[in-house]
Amino acid sequence: MNEDNPSYYLENVRIVDPGNSVSSGNALIRNGRIEALGIIDPAQVDSCERIDGQGRLLTPGLIDVHTHGILQYLYTTSRQDFLLACSELGQFGTTTILPTIVPQVEPGWFEQLSEIADAIPEVTSVNVPGLHLEGPFLAIKGSAAPTLPGDLKLLDEIIAACRGRMSAMSVSPETPNIIPVIDRLFENGTKVFLTHTRASPEQTEAAIEAGATHATHFYDVFYAPDEKDPGVRPVGAVESILADQRVSVDFICDGIHVHPTAIRAAIAAKGSRKVCLITDAVIGAGLPPDIYDTPWGFQIRVKEGDAPRHATNGTLSGSGLTMDEGMRNLLKWIDRPEHEIWGMGSTNPARMLELADTGAMKAGASADLVLWDFDLRVSHTWVNGRLSFQRE
Ligand SMILES: [Zn+2]
Repeated sequence: MNEDNPSYYLENVRIVDPGNSVSSGNALIRNGRIEALGIIDPAQVDSCERIDGQGRLLTPGLIDVHTHGILQYLYTTSRQDFLLACSELGQFGTTTILPTIVPQVEPGWFEQLSEIADAIPEVTSVNVPGLHLEGPFLAIKGSAAPTLPGDLKLLDEIIAACRGRMSAMSVSPETPNIIPVIDRLFENGTKVFLTHTRASPEQTEAAIEAGATHATHFYDVFYAPDEKDPGVRPVGAVESILADQRVSVDFICDGIHVHPTAIRAAIAAKGSRKVCLITDAVIGAGLPPDIYDTPWGFQIRVKEGDAPRHATNGTLSGSGLTMDEGMRNLLKWIDRPEHEIWGMGSTNPARMLELADTGAMKAGASADLVLWDFDLRVSHTWVNGRLSFQRE
């Protein structure tokens, strides 16, 4: 067996092809790619490591476009924490992330941003197409996000500090001077996400017209405009985004940040292909119940069935969701074909980010795959054909 490029033959799996089908068959992983699916000639599988799938599910790897950390790590604390965090993601079935950074536009921050961007090529345990900047051109505060007006000079400094590795930036439609910012991001090939907003329909539509294509942690920090005429329910960014087929949305599917009905409403408005799962995870995600230290000057309490909370005042302190748990929640909440629901954590975000060959269950695609146990816990995770996790 070639140690650098191991090959795997997965026998008797239920292959999930999101948006298309679930079918029984076999899978062959070689040279980092899915070489074949379905009925495979036994002569092709010599020298492969064989895994008995026992009829378990094989899905594309999960793609998280909004995540700040995992376990005890934040991606931004240091280069070392970033690399350690990435190495832990296989156990949750995550094979691609956009490490999400809340800008702190102050001395030293640009160097810190570049340090993380420079570390990306070293990561092998998960795909990192680029960074997601949550701000700084936001209209409403939330999780320490700055609220600066659109500023092309500052944007160019951020783009430069990301070393060509900025996949997405989240902005608010009502931020002053935001349209030139969206134009510049579009030219730079950076996806524009909408969030932290109380925008009017007109402001939201202008941002979409300029090139915004996605709304992140939809419903969280999405306020309706103020009521002007008593009895007339105000319409704002939520309705404009639901009504526009050009825009996809993502949700923190933990049952705490958003009610499952909001997810069902988005699927009813847009179809399931335009709805994605994110974690928005911070320190505490995936950790057992306890009290943990954070770099924010307070401790957090992690409790079964709840999001992490400030240990003394009890307020929500980000999300403790992991991608595997989000998928288990969606499979319980959403009454749609199973393959469509798996797409919300894999194929849909890949399509939104225009990642070629990622998140697809087809011969020739990158072998980012998850084999699930019958209780929907992760058994094996492959990233580019290499095992990033195997349950003992
Ligand atoms: Zn966030």
